[in-house]
Amino acid sequence: AHLERIEAVDEEVHAFLHVDGERALAAARDVDARVAAGEPVGPLAGVPLGLKDVLTMRGAPTTCGSKILQGWHPPYDATVTRRLLEAGLVVLGKTNMDEFAMGSSTENSAYGPTRNPWDTSRIPGGSGGGSAAALAAFEAPLTIGTDTGGSIRQPAAVTGTVGVKPTYGGTSRYGLVALASSLDQPGPCARTVLDAALLHEVIGGHDPLDSTSIDAPVPDVVGAARSGDVTGLKVGVVRELGGAGYQPGVQQRFDEAVALLSSLGAEVVEVSCPSFEQALAAYYLILPSECSSNLAKFDAMRFGLRVGDDGSRSAEEVMNLTREAGFGDEVKRRIIIGTYALSSGYYDAYYGSAQKVRTLIVRDFAAAFETVDVLVSPTTPTTAWPLGERVDDPLAMYAADLCTIPSNLAGNASASFPVGLAPEDGLPVGLQVIAPPMADDRLYRVGAALE
Ligand code: GLN
Repeated sequence: AHLERIEAVDEEVHAFLHVDGERALAAARDVDARVAAGEPVGPLAGVPLGLKDVLTMRGAPTTCGSKILQGWHPPYDATVTRRLLEAGLVVLGKTNMDEFAMGSSTENSAYGPTRNPWDTSRIPGGSGGGSAAALAAFEAPLTIGTDTGGSIRQPAAVTGTVGVKPTYGGTSRYGLVALASSLDQPGPCARTVLDAALLHEVIGGHDPLDSTSIDAPVPDVVGAARSGDVTGLKVGVVRELGGAGYQPGVQQRFDEAVALLSSLGAEVVEVSCPSFEQALAAYYLILPSECSSNLAKFDAMRFGLRVGDDGSRSAEEVMNLTREAGFGDEVKRRIIIGTYALSSGYYDAYYGSAQKVRTLIVRDFAAAFETVDVLVSPTTPTTAWPLGERVDDPLAMYAADLCTIPSNLAGNASASFPVGLAPEDGLPVGLQVIAPPMADDRLYRVGAALE
């Protein structure tokens, strides 16, 4: 049914970059056979899923939305992929994304944008717009995203779906093509809170192949999603994230959702996190610094595209031609910013200062979590904007990440849950919940209360 749905709508939505129906049907039949043989299978066995095209899977291409990886078939499964396959999930294919996960609209994909199923003239968010749109268009009941600065949560908000960024180290980065290694985190995307929790349980937990993986059990996310009890939960509304500059309908739905939590027994207070105002600036130095280094491996020798290799050119010339042709504008912009920020004369002034801001943000969170159990804010300042509106204005594009970035810098658990439609445009609004590291279960408790 999902393959038929993809066939019917994906020409317009373009949530998928690659679909392998035969493989999916074979995997589904395999689960059927296991059930028929009386073998025990997990709760998500046989459920179809879309995988963001930044996670490797043997036997399928991985492009990261970039031309430079065209034709690359990774020789190994990401840990997340392996856990999905072992749990019997049926991978339908790979979902569209901004090139190397840089963007907030999926318009930076080298393979064309994804459209928002609520209004196909609008963006589905990014970088994981494909994973979010696939859910909203009923092309898949579950998808996997990755979140470095909001790429799970912001697309979830603007498509009316659920997206969770686990605690940094809570899900494995092994086999996730790195954008910024100190920020990247794979996570579950779904249409319901319980679906997301069940998926979180499958992909989460310690992985010795990832040096920053936390050696502790996955918090009881499924129990929390089934409970939804927020009685006595202390909820802090972040003063710096909201109010002036936020779309009125976004603020209105957010305020109503907070009032609902309060009527369900949560204790709501206002909390100030002053350094959040510098978070965006710090992120857009730290991320380019890390990605300029991570993307150096795309040298035309080891992966995908190679341009101009006709015997007349040096390796360096081939490398330059390939990177020139293979990377899009946003990727080049960030490589330039990152190499500049890391250069010896500017390292302290830019990268060093940004790291200090990062520490201040960690301290703001620590202080806040001494008095509250979770923090909340709108997930994004606006609903989905029209395709094309921000493509020539990188700063306007970056502003979509205002609320989501602090949790990546601090490594907290964070999620976006749908809280209705903005009255002025009828488009989905998301509420963000942030919990301390390894308290991911609290996200689901709040999400289930709002559902
Ligand atoms: N909009 C953010 C960026 O462009 C999203 C990054 C991410 O989470 N992958 O950096």
